[in-house]
Amino acid sequence: MITGGASGIGAATARRFRQEGAEVVIADVQRDLGDRVAAETGSIFQLHDVALEAHWQNLMATVERRYGRLDIMFNNAGVICGGRNIANMDMATWNRVIGINQTGVMLGCQYAIALMRKNPGTWSGSIINTASSTSYAGLPEDLVYCTTKSAVRILTKSVAIWCARNKLQIRCNSIHPGAIKTAIMDELIASVPDPAALLEAVNNMSPFGRMGTPEEVAALVAFLASDEASFITGSEYLIDGGALAAHPGA
Ligand code: NAD
Repeated sequence: MITGGASGIGAATARRFRQEGAEVVIADVQRDLGDRVAAETGSIFQLHDVALEAHWQNLMATVERRYGRLDIMFNNAGVICGGRNIANMDMATWNRVIGINQTGVMLGCQYAIALMRKNPGTWSGSIINTASSTSYAGLPEDLVYCTTKSAVRILTKSVAIWCARNKLQIRCNSIHPGAIKTAIMDELIASVPDPAALLEAVNNMSPFGRMGTPEEVAALVAFLASDEASFITGSEYLIDGGALAAHPGA
């Protein structure tokens, strides 16, 4: 199951999971793109808003009816909200972004666990939550985005420990991408007065001088989803091309 699977990191992960032999369900608010990725990869698409609990009930009922089990949950859907800082934040924006980026991940974990815990055998599942490098360093002009991504980090650890203490073989880890070339990044760059300058700055966040690709992130997700990662839970994986590795004064 991949939320936000119609585009960017989610779509690349759908392609990668299919290459690895998984059955894939893409859940997204974008029907046209979702249908296209599903047709291209041989996945199925369901229109789904991660912020709405009723949608989760429908989605999991579809999965249970169709496949009888859930092994991998990639809680990846997310939105940015540039231009909203502590001085101009409004409650509608704050609650909307928290609903998608934070509550959506919580619901994804809750509903995935309810299905995964019914899986037969000793292996029950892997949950991967998309946070961000902004879990570690603030964005003054996108206050709610970095706040939600920081919340996903600690939510992930709490879920992981709860599962382990309740004798569920369900792992839960977070990934923390830096700048990755996707629609969200294009939207951010296009939104500023000098897009060329921002593009250069974003490329130079990493000492490699470029953004990451969705496929590079999908490779990390595929590893965390796999049995190769069987002793990894409650962990966080920064994938930012070394951007946060340098001391700010270095
Ligand atoms: P993207 O815009 O290409 O993909 C995001 C997907 O989420 C879209 O298909 C969109 O339709 C879907 N989505 C948005 N709201 C939804 C909702 N309410 N319910 C279901 N689906 C919804 O961008 P991306 O970069 O692939 O983003 C994927 C994740 O990676 C996001 O959580 C984002 O915050 C995170 N991330 C991206 C970057 C980056 O630089 N691209 C960096 C760090 C984290």
